[in-house]
Amino acid sequence: MLGKYRWKPKERGKKKTCFWEKCLNFDLACICVVAFLLVSGMGKGEAVWQAFVSAIHVQEGTQRDTSHSQSTLSLQGGESQEAVGLPKNGDSQGTGQTSEGNTEKKKVAITFDDGPHPQYTPEMLAALKERNVKATFFLLGEEVEKYPEIVKQIQEEGHLIGNHSYKHEQLSKLTMDQACAQVTRTNELIYGITGIYPSYLRPPFGDWHKELDCKMNMVEVLWDVDTLDWSIQNHAKIVEKTLNDVQENDIILMHDGYETSVTAAMEIIDTLQKQGYEFVTVDEMIFD
Ligand SMILES: [Zn+2]
Repeated sequence: MLGKYRWKPKERGKKKTCFWEKCLNFDLACICVVAFLLVSGMGKGEAVWQAFVSAIHVQEGTQRDTSHSQSTLSLQGGESQEAVGLPKNGDSQGTGQTSEGNTEKKKVAITFDDGPHPQYTPEMLAALKERNVKATFFLLGEEVEKYPEIVKQIQEEGHLIGNHSYKHEQLSKLTMDQACAQVTRTNELIYGITGIYPSYLRPPFGDWHKELDCKMNMVEVLWDVDTLDWSIQNHAKIVEKTLNDVQENDIILMHDGYETSVTAAMEIIDTLQKQGYEFVTVDEMIFD
């Protein structure tokens, strides 16, 4: 069903450029505008010339971001920019539609590694249920063996179960057969309890064994926000770090083996829900 797909931390700040933006970044800009006007029947006399001149100005403007000079040409260019579908000057401030119109909720995924834990996983599950939040749990095979009833509970409560290897070893330091065994043994254990083979794999330490690619038909899932909850173990600091770092469509990494992780996760969830975020499982995040 699934192809090989790796979810890696996103490169931030990269913006897609549309055709017109690309077009305007080259000398072809003027030709583009004139051709458009001619084809659309607007290309007569002065109108064409004004559009032509304003296109030159827009092109210059994009090349010199720091220039604030507002010549008369730029004012004349206003109409033509709109006519050919160029962004207007105020657009960067006034995108209101998505933020105010809230047509769709912002998504975020919260994930818990290294479980199940006999005490904190059930606590986490109860708190998630109270908030009607679905999460993703990347389980360790050796813990699955010890606490199968918690694995069953995770499934029954609608969360997604992923594979986090058997013993939390660094896969790249193992032979391919050993690395495969870490994954397949855990898959079999989870299947034995839930009746479903996990499709998602989070390698311990985010360290992939490159030769597993051709052996495993699983999706590798890393993360965008590392809460460092296992190391910090301080409620306020975990919450602060996470809320500072998180953005829309992020995957948050936590661990369900600590009291502070449970309480911090709940404050993070409560805060982000108030900010309009919707919590989804990683499959929804990746394939929607
Ligand atoms: Zn781990």
